[in-house]
Amino acid sequence: MTHLDKLITYFEKFPGIGARQARRFAFHVLTMEQSDVDDLAKLITNLQDTVTECARCHRFFAQNGSQSEMCSICLDGNRDRSKLMVLERDTDVQSIERSGVYDGLYFVLGGTLPLLTDTDNKLRSAALKATLDTQLTEGLSEIILAFSVNPDGENTGRYVESLLKEKIEAHSLQVTQLGRGLSTGSELEYADPETIKNALRNRTS
Ligand SMILES: [Zn+2]
Repeated sequence: MTHLDKLITYFEKFPGIGARQARRFAFHVLTMEQSDVDDLAKLITNLQDTVTECARCHRFFAQNGSQSEMCSICLDGNRDRSKLMVLERDTDVQSIERSGVYDGLYFVLGGTLPLLTDTDNKLRSAALKATLDTQLTEGLSEIILAFSVNPDGENTGRYVESLLKEKIEAHSLQVTQLGRGLSTGSELEYADPETIKNALRNRTS
């Protein structure tokens, strides 16, 4: 396999990127200034060293010299610890934060559970239980399921509910869905702040 083919293969593995786009990316790299190519390569090489997975919400955050195990959101004493929002991926946290109306905490599950499956080892199921336990000691009362409005997202919501069933019942936790305010098939990542604001205000049990 040539260098170019290998690069195309890597780009094809990026989320949402098809074979044609992957080729366009690779050929774009060929037209870039050498200094930019060097810069890009260095950024990719060092990315994992400069970013840490938060021990509590499991989103990735830039260390910026500090050695903290937790991200700025989880460490923020002004965030409302009665609410925990469970979402699929890091970029969903950014979408919610941009809307500026949510002041609770998050948990990034790391993926969705495809329809007709009931278990997935790639999801952070054990970590979610641990984070929930921690937040229960801080007055947690509501779990907000914020998955995309499609069959996989709905299946993931059901999975999370059954995973946490005992704790939900034991502590009379309210479980709400962001769903209704978002149109069918829409992904959080692409929803505009106004839509997210409405979805949050109109969340349903
Ligand atoms: Zn965090």
